[in-house]
Amino acid sequence: MAAPLLTVTDAVKTFGQMRAVDGASFEVAEGSITGLIGPNGAGKSTLFGAVAGETTLTSGRVTFAGEEIAERSATEIYARGLSRTFQIPRPFPKMTVLENVMLAATDQLGERFWNTWFRPGAVARQEREIRDRAHEVIAFCNLTAVERNLAGAISGGQKKLLELARVLMSDPKLILLDEPAAGVNPALLDTLVEKIVELNTRGKTFLIIEHNMDMVMSLCDPIIVLAQGKVICAGAPEEVAGNRAVIDAYLGE
Ligand code: ADP
Ligand code: MG
Repeated sequence: MAAPLLTVTDAVKTFGQMRAVDGASFEVAEGSITGLIGPNGAGKSTLFGAVAGETTLTSGRVTFAGEEIAERSATEIYARGLSRTFQIPRPFPKMTVLENVMLAATDQLGERFWNTWFRPGAVARQEREIRDRAHEVIAFCNLTAVERNLAGAISGGQKKLLELARVLMSDPKLILLDEPAAGVNPALLDTLVEKIVELNTRGKTFLIIEHNMDMVMSLCDPIIVLAQGKVICAGAPEEVAGNRAVIDAYLGE
């Protein structure tokens, strides 16, 4: 079997006395849509933050695409092809949808003083490329009709699609989605699921935190269950759904 794309080993993250992540180990196979579920406060979002390099684990290892990344910065990890969305979407509300997507481009050539000063032609070319790519990504995410709207004024579901669009600008290998279905109406939810499946067919690997069990059970395989910072079960949807420890963890919510 191929080496996993992501391996988390004995991850611990403490906040003061609290062990938000308490020795979690799991793998994400390349090409999979892996689910990460568990009751509120289980440590799921904290794990995402640590994997994406926004916070550092108290202890433990994270390997992505064959490389140890636990000590790498968020920027370095993003550049290596790992990108995440947030449980609460974080667009720049006073900028348009198009501007928000363009800003997510990996190579912000225009922001580099020397380039702007000495190579204005190159900057203009780069901006056109970013704009073209943003238009493609926006069309893929069904956001063309609102691309001139302020990001703060679009619906909750469209904000989730905007998060996905921003993530896609960097052409990541692994996409972490934090509760993509939360607050999304059923019609847009179908679109979101369709897009995830289509991207997966085209080779993208996903790790998805989600509370919508219908969505998780139909979309994700395997599913990892986190409770009180520990992995209590991992397996195919039917194994997880029938697991006593999983049922107990949710009953205790
Ligand atoms: P989940 O996403 O599974 O609902 P979180 O990872 O958000 O859980 O939170 C896990 C635990 O860690 C919770 O008890 C939460 O209150 C706590 N926690 C998360 N972030 C912080 C932080 N920055 N400082 C202190 N406690 C935190
Ligand atoms: Mg969370």
